[in-house]
Amino acid sequence: MATATAVAVATMKVVQVVKPGAGFQVVEREIPKPRPGQVRIRVRACGVCHSDVFTVEGAWPGIQYPRVPGHEVAGVIDEVGAGVSAWRKGQRVGVGWHGGQDNTCPECRRGDFRNCRNQQIAGISYDGGYQQYMVAPVEALVAIPESLKDVEAAPLLCAGITTYNALRHSGAFPGDLVAVQGLGGLGHLGVQFANKFGYRVAAIGRGEENATLAKKLGAQVYIDSKATNAAEALQKLGGAKVILGTAPNSKAMSELIDGLGPNGKFIVIGATNDPIPVTPIQLITGSRSLQGWAAGTPADSEDTLRFAELSGVRPMIEIYPLAQAAEAYARMLSGKAEFRVVLTM
Ligand SMILES: [Zn+2]
Ligand SMILES: [Zn+2]
Repeated sequence: MATATAVAVATMKVVQVVKPGAGFQVVEREIPKPRPGQVRIRVRACGVCHSDVFTVEGAWPGIQYPRVPGHEVAGVIDEVGAGVSAWRKGQRVGVGWHGGQDNTCPECRRGDFRNCRNQQIAGISYDGGYQQYMVAPVEALVAIPESLKDVEAAPLLCAGITTYNALRHSGAFPGDLVAVQGLGGLGHLGVQFANKFGYRVAAIGRGEENATLAKKLGAQVYIDSKATNAAEALQKLGGAKVILGTAPNSKAMSELIDGLGPNGKFIVIGATNDPIPVTPIQLITGSRSLQGWAAGTPADSEDTLRFAELSGVRPMIEIYPLAQAAEAYARMLSGKAEFRVVLTM
């Protein structure tokens, strides 16, 4: 008698986007195997970032579908591919926005991996963390310190590193007036880092009700941009050395440029496609500048996690199960989440 041999294929739960604007689909897929130079991560948490909109809406050049979003991944290596020697099974790791570099472009040759011309992004260039198992190249891996929980580490790998890295490269010194525009997913971390860096921190939010939170996070001053002219308020404090623009609202950013002091710098990290109106005179007066900043490398992420561990900076989070990714994403988009939304597997 002939018997059919059933081979059990190990499967996992995956949240994918099949085409731009189609929303999320929860499906079962075969658990992938890592190729040479890759590891497989058993994902334990993945943050839901506003930039996931690039995957959901197809707004990133060259993105292919179906695609699994997610670039704030925390988990454990459960298999290593051939040739991987620096990472081991059982090690806690994460993957952030910087999903790998080509090591050959002019920027990589100068060690500027953050600006690699062929940078890979988890959840855009390859499947990200909205799934139970994920394969990632070793160039993308971030070691997670023991004391940080997965759900805390995940948002630090995009929202955290972006605010931390932008501020630490901003040129502001301890004691300088640094303003953080927006008290959302990025801003609530920006205020904490700015405080721990020893800046005089002004948090700028909309509405009086955010004052208590801003102070609790470490702001010396809270400016309600609904009730007052925030640029004038900053000038009354001497003018900001740095303003970190975290809320993806170009009009709100534009309104703050006159709050910069001499040689002040406005650093843009809240991502939107809308233009930021600014006149040449505004920049020429006081030699002010306007600069963008994109996350950083996995080594920068490790610095971020270590600093968070040392200083007590932690994201405030709302947790959703993976199967409720659509609700979690809608919650993030609503702007009402307090303050980062994290999926657990
Ligand atoms: Zn992000
Ligand atoms: Zn490169």
